[in-house]
Amino acid sequence: MAKRDYYDVLGVSKSASPEELKSAYRKLAVKYHPDKNPGDKTAEDKFKEASEAYGVLSDKSKKENYDNFGHAAFENGGGRGGFGGFSGSDFSDIFEDFFGDFGGGGRRSSRKSSNRGSDLRYDLSISLEEAYTGKKQNIQFSTSEKCTTCKGNGSKPGHSPDRCTYCGGNGRVRSNQGFFTVQQTCPQCAGSGEEITNPCNDCNGQGNKQTSKKISVTIPKGVDDGTRIRLAGKGEAGTRGGVSGDLYLFINIDTHQLFKRSDVNLFFEFPISIADAALGTTIEIPTIDGGKAKIKIPDGTQNGKQFRLKGKGMPFMRRGDFGDLYVQIKTEVPISLNKEQKELLEKFRKIENERSNPSIKKFFQKAKSFWKT
Ligand SMILES: [Zn+2]
Ligand SMILES: [Zn+2]
Repeated sequence: MAKRDYYDVLGVSKSASPEELKSAYRKLAVKYHPDKNPGDKTAEDKFKEASEAYGVLSDKSKKENYDNFGHAAFENGGGRGGFGGFSGSDFSDIFEDFFGDFGGGGRRSSRKSSNRGSDLRYDLSISLEEAYTGKKQNIQFSTSEKCTTCKGNGSKPGHSPDRCTYCGGNGRVRSNQGFFTVQQTCPQCAGSGEEITNPCNDCNGQGNKQTSKKISVTIPKGVDDGTRIRLAGKGEAGTRGGVSGDLYLFINIDTHQLFKRSDVNLFFEFPISIADAALGTTIEIPTIDGGKAKIKIPDGTQNGKQFRLKGKGMPFMRRGDFGDLYVQIKTEVPISLNKEQKELLEKFRKIENERSNPSIKKFFQKAKSFWKT
């Protein structure tokens, strides 16, 4: 079927002003809007046709192309300017966009956003071990879902909403303020253009119902404290065909009794005795995967010395590799010595020499030269 001329569709002349185009489209949009003509295919087609025509003629550059080349201007490569693939909610988007900026300078989708369901936030605390392995978790939260009885339209089954009596179905009302005519969202129907005269018993005409919802979520391995996971469309249901909001999982990782985390690396302090530090030893340390690793501590290991265990840290999110584990040696000076220990240390003090304490030797050399000058 041949496409009708866009000017014919809107019933205006080629020289119509933007105002005339708007007004012509508005009339047709109100008349053929799918919400007002449920199930009427002809009305739906007319609405599509008018929206498409207005979409082109209201856009300066598209209009210019159309005036020069006719429909051929949009025939190749998706040139229909986004008017392909209409779906139910797109109708109302266009409708809303149009009325949204009818008053001039109005930003896109002010009403659209009010139809979209709210985003939800869910705070989830997990252990560091769970962040290491990742996990599946059931979460339960309170949200609003589309009412199944009325399928979200708010009316008793068998009834449909009526046109709002206050705004006549426009969703917007005009009021005079001095010289200006101001358009605002209809206070009666909150912009929907509809009035529920036979409210659904299950949702009291809201179209949505508050429920407790349980879903299973996958926490990927490697999540960090503060990681935000977006679950698209899992938030509150939208109203009157609006899309659902999103659910955001905010991950909180409990403080671990051993490991400290920085990005993908893990740290912990390992206390050893001064005898072990001086003589050397092998220590066995815990790793986040629940296993153990051995580290050889050489003789003469100083307090604060760090050992790195490659690949024993946290996993990188969405990657196969791992960070490192840093073990810091903390030498512990012994306390509460018994008699024998004291005697041995006294003996040790007597035979200590400068070779075994190079830092002390160095310090006193500096101190001596300082006193001399
Ligand atoms: Zn209902
Ligand atoms: Zn209204």
